[in-house]
Amino acid sequence: MHNDHSLVEARLDRFVRDHLTPALYRDARPLAATAWPVDREPVPFETAVEQTFEPVPLGWRWGRAWSTVWLRVTGEVPAEWLPQPPAGTRIEVLVDFGYNRSRSGFQAEGLAYRPDGSLIKSIAPLNSWLPVAPGERHIDVLIEAAANPDVAGEYTFDPTPYGLWETAPDEPLYELKQLEVALRDETVWHLLADVWTLRGLMAELPEGSSRRHEILRALEDMLDVLDPEGIPQTAQVGRDAIAGVLAKPAHASAHRVLATGHAHIDSAWLWPLRETVRKCARTFTNVMDLMDEHPDFVFSCSSAQQYLWMKEHHPRVFARMKEKVAAGQFVPVGGMWVESDTNMPGGEAMARQFIAGKQFFIDEFGVECEEAWMPDSFGYSGALPQIVAAAGSRWFLTQKISWNQINRMPHHTFWWEGIDGTRVFTHFPPVDTYISELSGKELAHAERNFSEKGRATISLVPFGWGDGGGGPTREMIAAAHRTADLEGSPRVTMGSSRDFFEAAEAEYPQAPVWSGEMYLELHRGVFTSQLRTKQGNRRNESLLRQAELWAATAALRTGFAYPREALARAWQTVLLLQFHDILPGSSIAWVHREAEQRHAAVTETLEGIIADAIAALAGQGGEHDLLVNASPFAREGVPALGAATLVASHPAVTATEGADGATVLDNGIIRAVVDARGHVTSLIAHADGREAIPAGQPANVLRLHRDLPNLWDAWDLDQHYQRTVTELLEVDERHVRTVGDTATVITVRRVGDSLIEQRLTLRAGESALEIENRIDWREREKILKLAVPLDVHADRIAAETQFGHLYRPTHTNTSWDAARFEACQHRFVHLGEPGYGVAIANDSTYGYDVGRDTRADGGTTTTVRFSLLRAPLFPDPESDQGEHLMRFRIAPGATIGDAVALGYDLATPLRAVRAAAPIAPIVTSSDPAVVVETVKLAEDGSGDLVVRLYESRGGRAHTTLTLDGTAVTIECTDLLERTLDGEPAGTGASIELPFRAFQLRTVRFRGVSAR
Ligand SMILES: [Zn+2]
Repeated sequence: MHNDHSLVEARLDRFVRDHLTPALYRDARPLAATAWPVDREPVPFETAVEQTFEPVPLGWRWGRAWSTVWLRVTGEVPAEWLPQPPAGTRIEVLVDFGYNRSRSGFQAEGLAYRPDGSLIKSIAPLNSWLPVAPGERHIDVLIEAAANPDVAGEYTFDPTPYGLWETAPDEPLYELKQLEVALRDETVWHLLADVWTLRGLMAELPEGSSRRHEILRALEDMLDVLDPEGIPQTAQVGRDAIAGVLAKPAHASAHRVLATGHAHIDSAWLWPLRETVRKCARTFTNVMDLMDEHPDFVFSCSSAQQYLWMKEHHPRVFARMKEKVAAGQFVPVGGMWVESDTNMPGGEAMARQFIAGKQFFIDEFGVECEEAWMPDSFGYSGALPQIVAAAGSRWFLTQKISWNQINRMPHHTFWWEGIDGTRVFTHFPPVDTYISELSGKELAHAERNFSEKGRATISLVPFGWGDGGGGPTREMIAAAHRTADLEGSPRVTMGSSRDFFEAAEAEYPQAPVWSGEMYLELHRGVFTSQLRTKQGNRRNESLLRQAELWAATAALRTGFAYPREALARAWQTVLLLQFHDILPGSSIAWVHREAEQRHAAVTETLEGIIADAIAALAGQGGEHDLLVNASPFAREGVPALGAATLVASHPAVTATEGADGATVLDNGIIRAVVDARGHVTSLIAHADGREAIPAGQPANVLRLHRDLPNLWDAWDLDQHYQRTVTELLEVDERHVRTVGDTATVITVRRVGDSLIEQRLTLRAGESALEIENRIDWREREKILKLAVPLDVHADRIAAETQFGHLYRPTHTNTSWDAARFEACQHRFVHLGEPGYGVAIANDSTYGYDVGRDTRADGGTTTTVRFSLLRAPLFPDPESDQGEHLMRFRIAPGATIGDAVALGYDLATPLRAVRAAAPIAPIVTSSDPAVVVETVKLAEDGSGDLVVRLYESRGGRAHTTLTLDGTAVTIECTDLLERTLDGEPAGTGASIELPFRAFQLRTVRFRGVSAR
C-alpha cells in the first residue's frame, strides 16, 4: 500500500474543523439581553435581581477590568422544539462574552441563575453552554458576568496595570458576541468525542504499530461515509464506521489510570481573593451539574477555605455540595485549610493547616481526608511527612517537582521520609499536569513517563480546567468513558484519590524511599519576593503563639474567657495568606496589599488578646516592672512561658575606638569589631576566644545583584544573578551611639534612590551581635544580599524548618547540590564544625545561599548570604518598593541548641508591663532540647489544656513535662487532639516523655485544676 498516512490525517483534521464541529448545533435562535452593571465590587444575587436592567444589543462592548455585569437573558423556545426537542437533540443556551476560545480560563466568566436564585451552571471560554430543561417554553436566566482581565496574557511577564482596580485601564475588555438558544445534535457530539479520543491515541502509537494503522483506516472509512452536506443524517453511520476500533479492549498489561475530576483553583493569584470565591461557586456549580448527568464522575476538591466561602457566600451551592459529598461524588481531599506553601510556614502554622482543614471536613461532612494534596506548591519541606502523619493522614500527593529545571525525581510512587524518620506513601502523577483533559497525548505520557513500571501499574490523573474554566467538562468525561478499556491506551477509571492510594499502596508496599525535603529546582525567588506579606506572616505566627499561651494560662488560672472564636478566625486568615501564591509573593498587587491589611488587622486582634490575658494574669498596673517571656527558653532570669521582674544584671557594654576608625563593641560576653565602613571584621565569644570572621573577609557586606529571571519574575531567581554584583562598600554616614546598656554603630548608604541604614547593636548580657537593616528600597529588578563569611569548616549548613532543622551541603558536587543555589530557612541557620559553631537568627526573611572558600593556609571558610529584598516587575510592578526593617543576630561560639533559642529570642521579644504579680509558667519542660512550641486550650471547647512540643536538636531526648496544677488524665494525642493508644499517659501534674530526633508530640491535659 502507498504510504498516505499524513494525507489522511490532514484530511481528517480539516473535515473535523470545517464540517463536523460546525454541525454540532443543528439550529439556533437569538435571545434578548438586558444588563445591570455593578458599581464596583460584586453583590449577591438577591441584590442584583432587584435592579433595573437596560437592554443591550449583540456586539455590546462591556467589562472594564475587574467589573461585573449582571445580564438577564430572555426568549422563547421555538414551538417546533416543544413539547420535546427532536429525537437525538438537546436544547441549550449558548453564550459568548467575547473571550478567546483558545484558552480555558483567565478571562471573562459567568455564573447563571434561575430567577428564583437557584444556580444553573457557569460560563467559561471552553464551556459556554447552559442546559434548558425539556418542555421549558421561556428562557429567563440571570448571569453574573465577571470581566476578569487576562493578566498574564501570553506569559511575556511584562509589567501589568491590571493588578489593581485603580491602575487598570477603564475601557471595556469584552464584547457580547453570542446569545442563542440552540439545538445540540447528540450523535454528532458523540462522534466528535469518538474522533477526538481516537485521533489523540493514534498520534501517540508508534508509526510501526498495526493498531495505529487500524485506527487511521477506520477514521478514513468514517470520512467516506459522512456526508458534509448532511452530517446529522450520516453521523450515526460515521460512528458505526469507527465502533470496531473503539471496542477493542486494552492490552492485558496496559497502564492503569485513576482519573479524578479536579479544578486547581488558586486561592488568589492573578486575581484578588474575592474573585476566587466566585471562581469556586462557578466551578462547583458546573461540577455538580455534571454529577447529576454522570453518576460515575468523582470530583476531588481540596481546601477547607473554599468550602467555607461557599457556606458563607453561596449557601445554596454549599447545601448541594453536602449532598454530593454524602453521595461520594464530591470528595474533600488534602485535609488542609488551603494548598499552602510548605517551605515558609512555621511549625505550628503548618500543623494548623491540617488541623483546621481536617476538622472542618469532619465537622461539616463527617469525612476525614487521609491524603495531603498539594499538586502545585513550590517545593516540600522535610518536616511534612511527620506533620501529615501526626494529623492522622497516610498519603501525599504532588506533581510540582516535575517542573525541576535540572534534575528529574527518580520516582513517581515512593515512600517519602521526613527529617524525623516518618514515612508517608507518596505519588507524583506521571501525567505531569493537574489540569488534564484526558487527551491521548496526556494518557500516553503518563504511561511512558511512569518510573515505577514493572513494579507498579497505576497512576493518578487529575482532570479538569482550573483557575476558572469551570473544572471538568462533559467532553473530558466522554474521553474517560472511551478510554476505560481501549487498545493502545492506558485503562482509565474515574474515582477518588482514596481509591487511587489504596490500590497503589496495596500493589507496591516496597516502593523506593526519598529522604528529606523535596526541593523545587525553580521558583527560588519566592523566599524573598513581597517581604511585607512574609513579615506579616512571621509576626502573626509568633503573636498567635503568644496569644494562645497567655489566653490559655489566664483561662485556667483566672477564668479568663478564652477567645476561641477570635483565635480561630485569626488562624484562618493567617492560614489563607499562606496560600502558595500569596506567602511566596507571586500574586498581583491587589492580593499583596490586601494580605498586608489583613495581617495588620490580625496583629491588632492578637495584641488585644495578649494584653487582656496578661492583665488578667498579672493584674493591671501595680508596682512591678514585669518582663513577660513567651519564649520556651528562660531569659534574663525570667522563666520560659512566664513573667518576672528583672533580676539579672550585666557588665556594661563598651564602645571604644579601634584602629583605622573601627569601633570595638564589648559586653564581656562577645566582642565585635566594626570597621570604618560598617563591616564586621572580628567577632569573638570570650568563652572560647575564637575568631568567627575569616581574615580579610568581613561580615555584613551588602551585595547588590542584577535580578533578571528568564521567566516568572516574582517566582524565579536565576543562577546568573550571581554573575554580576556590586558590593556596597562606601558609607555615607557613620556614627556610634551608646544608650543605657546598648552600644550601636549606625551606617547609612545611599544606593541610587534607595537608602540603607544599618544598626549594629550589642546589648548587655546578650551573646549575639544584632544587625538591623532599615531600607527604603527604590531599586527595580535587583536583589540585595547580606553576606556573612565565617571562619568555620562546614560541609553543611543547618537551616530551621518546621519543628526542627535540616542540613544542606555547602558544596556543589552533584547536580542536585548545584541546583539548590537558593534555599529556605526559618528563624535560624547554624554553621558548625566539631566543638565550634555560629548561629545566625533572623526576624523575617527566608531566602539564603551558602558557599565556601579555601584560604592560602588550606583552611576552608563558609559564607552565608541572606536575601533581603528583590523587586520583580511581574505580576506586581511595584513589588517591595518602600520602607522595610529586618533584623539578624549573629552568635559566635553557638551550638545548635543556642541557635534554636536565638530564633525564639528574635521572634518573641520580652514584653515589659507594669503589673501586680509575676506569672508562673503553666507548663515546664525539663529538657531544654524539648521545646514547648504551643500552649492552648483544646479545639473542642472542653477547656482541656493542649501542649505541643518537639525535640529541637536532632538527637534523642527525655523530658518531664510538668503542669502547674493537676489534671485528671494526661495523654498523648494526634494533631487533632485525639488520644493515641500505646503512647505515654499519666495523671496528676507531670508526664515523662521520651523523644526521638525531631519528634513532635501533642499532650492533652484533661480536667485541669490550675494552681
Ligand atoms: Zn496553584
